[in-house]
Amino acid sequence: MLDVVQIPVLNDNYIYLLGDAGTKTCAVVDPALAEPVLAAAKERGWRITHILNTHWHGDHTGGNEAIKQATGCTIIGPRNEQAKIPGIDVAVGEGDTVALPGGDIAHVLDVPGHTAGHIAYHFETQGLLFCGDTLFAMGCGRLFEGTAEQMFASLHKLMALPDNTEVYCAHEYTEANGRFALTVEPDNVNLIDRMDEVHNNRAQSLPTVPFLLGVDKATNPFLTAATVEEFARRRAAKDVFQG
Ligand SMILES: [Zn+2]
Repeated sequence: MLDVVQIPVLNDNYIYLLGDAGTKTCAVVDPALAEPVLAAAKERGWRITHILNTHWHGDHTGGNEAIKQATGCTIIGPRNEQAKIPGIDVAVGEGDTVALPGGDIAHVLDVPGHTAGHIAYHFETQGLLFCGDTLFAMGCGRLFEGTAEQMFASLHKLMALPDNTEVYCAHEYTEANGRFALTVEPDNVNLIDRMDEVHNNRAQSLPTVPFLLGVDKATNPFLTAATVEEFARRRAAKDVFQG
């Protein structure tokens, strides 16, 4: 049983603690910083045993070394970026599994596009996906190192997961993503309704993450793109969107 704690840091990053009540241990997903993670674990009486990194960017790995120093935890990260992951102990890729002390198991998916070796962690039994900067609510990561073809394939790999999968992405970009989505599909009723809810939540400073994959499939212009060419056009338009 995973108890997910969402820690907002920096401007719009989310760090996640995956706690297990039985063993009083937790794993940390993408620690941008160390202090808020150490404080949140201490507050709950949890020992940090693992860090799970999705990709090498500093706002996902900046806390790695200080957390490892404080706790002796094991750092797991993408095989194809291992030289860039501070303190990495175990490199993983497509088809690998990660077992946490409480018995929870993550399946690793290769989802290149935002970075060349980006991975996602799928807890199949619990229906939870930690996808870093690949899939966002109504958006997707910028193509810093990968191609549109790679990102399109990565998003389709994630779309094949069950609709009731809870998606935990690493940024609160939802409102801006939704404004762009409305320029692409202004008549999409599901999108209009979702944006009403998003505006309400953000007006109260509530997170819009996690979200359901099935909801995103109907409202995310990068998931509704019919072809890779259409996807690439939308991604390029979003890069220059001033909304
Ligand atoms: Zn990133």
